[in-house]
Amino acid sequence: MEKEKNILTCVDCGTQNCKFKVRSYPEFCPTTNLDEGDLEWALERYDEGNNHKIMTASAEVEYEGYGHLTRVEEIMEFARKTGAKKIGIANCIGLIKEARTFAKILRANDFEPYSVICKVGAVDKSSIGIAKECENIGAAMCNPILQARLLNKIKTDLNVVIGLCVGHDSLFYKYSDAYATTLVTKDRVTGHNPAAVLYTATSYYKKLTPKD
Ligand code: SF4
Repeated sequence: MEKEKNILTCVDCGTQNCKFKVRSYPEFCPTTNLDEGDLEWALERYDEGNNHKIMTASAEVEYEGYGHLTRVEEIMEFARKTGAKKIGIANCIGLIKEARTFAKILRANDFEPYSVICKVGAVDKSSIGIAKECENIGAAMCNPILQARLLNKIKTDLNVVIGLCVGHDSLFYKYSDAYATTLVTKDRVTGHNPAAVLYTATSYYKKLTPKD
């Protein structure tokens, strides 16, 4: 069967004219092919709930901290700007030390951190139908929905993810009532720097694009 032609999207664009505006837009550009209704719909959403406050604070943190505030500092600045005091930490057990350090920093900066670790509830993986062999690396399952529920009950103002597994993080974001951001993205192989694979994709990680 003939391979379907790749559909061109923003990753195939060489101009990024949506930012620069003095170049040209490619034919497949979603900006020039935009259904006006979609743009209006998105713009209207910024007036819903606290979305406008979040957008304003994000833009200010980006602008004021550009290139000199670390992500830890940016999260605290974002929290200050949005009035968030109770900070939920949804952390992986493998990053408990990092979570403790973050909590210490938060306390030193007058925030109230509340951590719920991934293994909370002490439920075995096989008890919810996960394959028994998955227990070979530990029987207790991660419980991102319970992490979210407990932080929701505390009514945290902002939740921060530290190293939840791929997919567990997806469930946490889905069930978290508070806006959630990520401090650490887990990558057990690269010391939690998943971008390392992208930076070395033409050398050490060439194996991921064997046909190039
Ligand atoms: S929106 Fe258009 S101009 Fe912007 S990156 Fe995508 S294709 Fe390029």
